Amino acid sequence: MRPGDPARELEEIAARGRLRRIAPLAEGQGAVVSDPTGARLVNFSSNDYLGLASHPGIGEAAARCARDHGFGSGASRLVCGAFSEHSRLEDEIAAFKGTEAALAFSSGYLCGLTTLTALLGRDDFILVDRLAHACLIDGARYCGATLRVFGHNRLDHLESHLKWARCRAAAGSRILVVTESVFSMDGDTAPLAEMVELKERHGALLLVDEAHATGILGPGGRGLGAVADLTSRIDLHMGTLSKALGTHGGFIAASRPWIDLLINRARGLTYSTAPPPPVAAAAAAALEIAASAEGDALRRALGDATGRLGNALVARAAPRVPEDVATPILPWVVGEDGTAVETAARLRRSGILVPAIRPPTVPPGTARLRFTACATHTPEHIAELVRALG
Ligand SMILES: *Cc1c(COP(=O)(O)O)cnc(C)c1O
Repeated sequence: MRPGDPARELEEIAARGRLRRIAPLAEGQGAVVSDPTGARLVNFSSNDYLGLASHPGIGEAAARCARDHGFGSGASRLVCGAFSEHSRLEDEIAAFKGTEAALAFSSGYLCGLTTLTALLGRDDFILVDRLAHACLIDGARYCGATLRVFGHNRLDHLESHLKWARCRAAAGSRILVVTESVFSMDGDTAPLAEMVELKERHGALLLVDEAHATGILGPGGRGLGAVADLTSRIDLHMGTLSKALGTHGGFIAASRPWIDLLINRARGLTYSTAPPPPVAAAAAAALEIAASAEGDALRRALGDATGRLGNALVARAAPRVPEDVATPILPWVVGEDGTAVETAARLRRSGILVPAIRPPTVPPGTARLRFTACATHTPEHIAELVRALG
């Protein structure tokens, strides 16, 4: 083998039990999917929590836009301007989040990465929860600011980092605290009210990534920030259109000056072609549904499915499934990477699709099966899981 051979690196990954493969699906949408052999799988792996990914009204909004205006967007919006679908989507996001303005990006990952690199530089400080999403960690690393990681949801650690940064920050430097509201691999929530108090006391800013709360938590699915009425005190609200909203793209909602600064500085906006207008049209339709009475009914169905799934997993004595379930993410922590992979494979043979999540996505020694509930899960789907768990 030649030096730098990718096959060698793959062997090393495999030797550590960390090899990943993309498993093909024949039909991938909804509570029941099928693999290419036609085998039926009850799907506990999707972030399509409200089932909106296959909502006919959303598909129709995209199809109508594509029929009338075509699919592609041609260039970055800074080059060729915005389609009315982009502007409408951003107005809707701002209204949904209760902020002055919003900016949509081609994906949530890009949004996190480019926002942090746009707003922070060498003179700034960034304090990030240890379990924050890879796009936030990557942005924190690339932006050049001094990075400090605080223990997961540890307010005492956060406060000592804030004091430390405040002592060193020059006048005009930014100190930004970054957290998720619902943690993607653990399903627990951040103590946002306390974090807001702390960042205000120490003259810092706060970015909250609501990827897994958008459409799910708070009035109309507006997110955890809206639950405790913290909207105006959170500086940067991040979210994705790709999970409970069932479409695609990421966003920042904030006051007008932050959004205008991002338009000037975010390289992921300037140097990337705008999302296709039909995608923006679909996302705008999804936001309307999420905030409507139909959205409330879907959230109730999701709550029922989450309760049933939680009971099923706790009854199976899954060692570390949280008992007071507030979100549809239910991690069953098994520890060893191999155990997680083998258990997921065994469940798949019994007709259950659930992903084994391994490091580096989660800390070493905490490999897990990550079950997610969806509004489309029926009691019978959960009963099938109980039978497969044996
Ligand atoms: C999924 C996720 C993202 C990325 O969003 P995409 O739209 O899938 O690119 C960002 N942050 C968190 C917390 C996520 O879970």
